[in-house]
Amino acid sequence: MIFSGGSGDHSVATALGGVAPALAVEAPVSLLEPMAEKTESDETPSFLDGIFWMAAPKSRRTIEVNRCRRRNPNKLEKLKGNIDVCPQCGSLKQKHILCGYCYEKVKQETAAIRKEITIMEGGPHRSPTVESVVLYEGEKPRLKDEGKRIIERNRKRPSWFTLD
Ligand SMILES: [Zn+2]
Repeated sequence: MIFSGGSGDHSVATALGGVAPALAVEAPVSLLEPMAEKTESDETPSFLDGIFWMAAPKSRRTIEVNRCRRRNPNKLEKLKGNIDVCPQCGSLKQKHILCGYCYEKVKQETAAIRKEITIMEGGPHRSPTVESVVLYEGEKPRLKDEGKRIIERNRKRPSWFTLD
């Protein structure tokens, strides 16, 4: 960089105390010291730029002001007017949403049926192309179930799982 221009050669020569430019190239140690100082002063602002400065409040807010903000009616939880009683199990649920308890029961029963199907098939992608019927304790296959695959569960039929 310094040695690129003809005028630069002259300035280096004067800085090194009258050494010829050809010799100045051979002695980098004397050149490195001012260079190191220069890079340090150049990098300092960029290093400070990398620091994330947090915003700090100028003055303390009183507890009254803070309470007014926190207990503002707009910030408080709204009362829900759409709570309903589940007709199946009686627990509370939102009107437009499925009852969580009932849904969990359905999920567990479905998982159990799936498990039994997996045991019957002995592996994935081996399901026959016939309809499946789930029979619970004390149930016999009916006439219209003929030819269908029968999955047996050794428990009472849940109320929500009708046969038809
Ligand atoms: Zn329910």
